[in-house]
Amino acid sequence: CGIIGYVGPRECKDLLLFGLERLEYRGYDSAGIALLEDDGLVYTRAVGNLQNLKRAAGDGGSRATTGLGHTRWATHGGVTEANAHPLAGDDPAEIAIVLNGIVENYRELRDRLREAGHVFASETDAETVTHLIEEHYAGDLVEATRAAFGELEGHFAFVVIHRDHPGLLVGARHQCPLVVGAGRGETFLASNASAFLKESREVYFPDDGDIVAITVEGVRFLRHDDGGEVERELVELDWDD
Ligand code: GLU
Repeated sequence: CGIIGYVGPRECKDLLLFGLERLEYRGYDSAGIALLEDDGLVYTRAVGNLQNLKRAAGDGGSRATTGLGHTRWATHGGVTEANAHPLAGDDPAEIAIVLNGIVENYRELRDRLREAGHVFASETDAETVTHLIEEHYAGDLVEATRAAFGELEGHFAFVVIHRDHPGLLVGARHQCPLVVGAGRGETFLASNASAFLKESREVYFPDDGDIVAITVEGVRFLRHDDGGEVERELVELDWDD
């Protein structure tokens, strides 16, 4: 239901939790964050309100400068910690995603991926995207996301993080909102700019079907069909914070 991602020089745990608070108005039944620490991806998820997530995440203890967060409004799979996002891939987890919306063809994808040996840890439609990206992954996270995107049906926006790619988040959208916040030496990705408005008012709105790669240097937009780079316009928001 709500997505926030950060890449930059700052420790991002509190930025992510703050961003999720700003997205609370959208409603949710569980929440989670994934932080890319020195020794790998660390996930914290909790059913119920953000207080529960904050309690589970504890104070401090993170040096991560790449991370993502999610508030979930369950559509497929009950309201449980295992179904809360970020959803990890196969053990040991190298990849995690957060997703808004619905993947309509998740059953056939899940059957195929199970046959290929992937092990599902949740009941969600969204987890199929994690394993699908794993299946396509051969060292290039942007390319794997682009390939996976082409196989998905439904309406969704999602963001991916990979243990071996610190400083990179890859997002995509199809009929669900996703916005890029371009700060100074840092970049945000969120379902609504209110999640990062305190930090950045310069934004890009990716087109439907864009694959978005954010790093500290900024953002790249690729067409999902042929991988060609495209330009999107930088917009200055004059919204009230
Ligand atoms: N369909 C996904 C799920 O049930 C995402 C729901 C959402 O947008 O929060 O996990």
